[in-house]
Amino acid sequence: MRGNGKRVVVIGGGPGGYPAAIRAAQSGLDVVLIDRGGLGGTCLHRGCIPTKLLLKESADYRKAAAFPAAGTGIAYPPADLAGMMRRKEQVLGQLERGTAGLLRKNGVRVIAGTASFLDPSRVLVGETGEIVESPAFIVATGSSPSRLPVEGSDLPGVADSDAALSLERVPRAVAIIGGGVIGLEFAQMFRNLGAEVTIVEMLPRLLASEDGDVSAAIRGALESSGIAVRTGATVERIGKMRGGLGVDFREGGVIRRTDAELVLVAVGRKPSFEGLNPVKAGLNPEKGAIRVNGRMETDIPGIYAVGDAAGGLMLAHKATMEGECAAQNAAGIPTVASYAAIPRVVYTDPEVACVGLTEAEARKRHAHVRVGKFPFSMSGRAILEGAPHGFAKVIAEGETGCVLGVAIVGRQAAQAIGEASLAVRLEATVGDLADLVHPHPTFSEALREAALDADGRAIHMPPAPKSAAVV
Ligand SMILES: Cc1cc2nc3c(=O)[nH]c(=O)nc-3n(C[C@H](O)[C@H](O)[C@H](O)COP(=O)(O)OP(=O)(O)OC[C@H]3O[C@@H](n4cnc5c(N)ncnc54)[C@H](O)[C@@H]3O)c2cc1C
Repeated sequence: MRGNGKRVVVIGGGPGGYPAAIRAAQSGLDVVLIDRGGLGGTCLHRGCIPTKLLLKESADYRKAAAFPAAGTGIAYPPADLAGMMRRKEQVLGQLERGTAGLLRKNGVRVIAGTASFLDPSRVLVGETGEIVESPAFIVATGSSPSRLPVEGSDLPGVADSDAALSLERVPRAVAIIGGGVIGLEFAQMFRNLGAEVTIVEMLPRLLASEDGDVSAAIRGALESSGIAVRTGATVERIGKMRGGLGVDFREGGVIRRTDAELVLVAVGRKPSFEGLNPVKAGLNPEKGAIRVNGRMETDIPGIYAVGDAAGGLMLAHKATMEGECAAQNAAGIPTVASYAAIPRVVYTDPEVACVGLTEAEARKRHAHVRVGKFPFSMSGRAILEGAPHGFAKVIAEGETGCVLGVAIVGRQAAQAIGEASLAVRLEATVGDLADLVHPHPTFSEALREAALDADGRAIHMPPAPKSAAVV
């Protein structure tokens, strides 16, 4: 039967494709993985790993540079971005070799090259001329940066995230177009390294798909570090100016300009099928993505699509979950993808980490909703670390107390969201979260305090003022 044969070919070696290949091999299939751009995909080479490495290195630089300013009078040397990039290459190389080793040890045959469908059962590897035949394919070809359709977006000095990850020198001023995850992380990285940074976002707030209080908290933190934020601001054109570029944007009916040495376009990503020839396999990517069902099956029997190529949340861990799901189905182990508890993280400081429903979504879907909140300004750990920004928020169904979603804005939020994801996944209640003993002093205690608040028994927050007593 197609799709339940002995073989599967995985196209793309990113966090969707390579775990799919390993899981398929573990499940007894003969596996071929074809990748043209380096194992690890966007995530390893141009996404998750390099951005986090540069955020960490740049934060270390900012801290070190702050000490002389605090009193010694010694001028700190400018940031060595080229050195950071060299370290980045070492780390990427190490991780790519690790991925290749894992695939080899699982018996996966890796072919370096571009796969193009000839028909639903065969692909041609362009670079080698090899034709690979299989009853099953997993398409994991990822995505590429969206372009900004405005005048001047092809000028030198206008970059997407790929290009910005190979700069050798810190630009004097950076204009970032787009106030989503990628825009915010780059904004903080450049600011840490001493650049003047302006974020220009068309929507009324940053991270617009999260709740308003989340947007406001991260905006406040970024602005207090000196980043300028312009929301409700639509870029009209980019032009050359003496000494750099000018970005003209319309804000409240008025045209304004911000100047920059680098303009970073971070306006989203679109699924990529470059070279794949999906139509020859009978696949017609809709609105850019390949349509799949809950088992990651496309409309063509035996062909699966996962990760960014299948649309939805463009996150590495979502791609991995889908890849493993597709691999199991290809091996004849019925599996359904689960989207209820996929964490969404922005690795700025403070971090933003959310899982499940936002408060706005919960209020749309449920008649009664309970919300508990705890500010980091009241957390012992946050105060001792000088990181009192943000809050933890637990959103629960009003009657049962079942946890529907969690949002945390604060240092180490990405670590604490693992526990929240488990609560959402296991349909735990706020009582379950509140009665779990958390280590002290930790940032994760804020989550418990928010759950306690949702359960009406907060300990570390003063009670709400009682309404005037009736005598
Ligand atoms: C700047 C940035 C930061 C990010 N940070 C995070 C983060 O912190 N956390 C997170 O979860 N996500 C992050 N992401 C998103 C994450 O990188 C993607 O969601 C993830 O890489 C998608 O995985 P994928 O396997 O679907 O595709 P990809 O990782 O894009 O991999 C696709 C692979 O397929 C190959 N390929 C494409 N076409 C063909 C073909 N025809 N033949 C052979 N091979 C082909 C490509 O070369 C590539 O290796 C970030 C993205 C960016 C751009």
